[in-house]
Amino acid sequence: MIRFLLHACCAPCGIAVIDELKSQYDLTVFFYNNNIYPEEEYLKRKKYVVQICDEWLIPMIDFDYNQTDWREAVQGLENEPEGGARCSKCFRLRLETTARYAKENNFDIFCTTLTSGRNKKAEVINPIGVEVGLKYGVMFFETDWKKAGRQQKARKMVEERGIYRQNYCGCRFSHNNLII
Ligand code: SF4
Repeated sequence: MIRFLLHACCAPCGIAVIDELKSQYDLTVFFYNNNIYPEEEYLKRKKYVVQICDEWLIPMIDFDYNQTDWREAVQGLENEPEGGARCSKCFRLRLETTARYAKENNFDIFCTTLTSGRNKKAEVINPIGVEVGLKYGVMFFETDWKKAGRQQKARKMVEERGIYRQNYCGCRFSHNNLII
């Protein structure tokens, strides 16, 4: 069976994607989101990804939470608007780390749940995934998880399980803005 590494940013973005992929692939979830601030928020988001993986017996890699790496990656872009250059760097760091881990651990394909977010543009995220996939020699699964009714499905699944839904993207600079 094809080994698939799925970077998951949070449970609301991941739940319908994981549900869809788990029967088609040998799926592993990769939690690497050192953009999230503060740490209590990071732990809260992680807790619900763990809950989903436990429910469906999906292996989950709990990768590191090195905020210094993230701050260095976005240095000089602190005042960028959400959706701008800082976000592209943030996507790249998380996708590149996922691609590298996939290569080092013999996965065939990797992907991210990031395109599930209603304000996350697949046309920005997917080319980064393809580029880092080529760099490490692992295929990036290009898609837009917002499509095909997955957002509605995810909303229902989140409500049924009482899963926490955050009201900001994740980093300290997005803390007071309501975009996901
Ligand atoms: S707003 Fe979201 S995507 Fe953009 S830098 Fe912050 S955490 Fe990353």
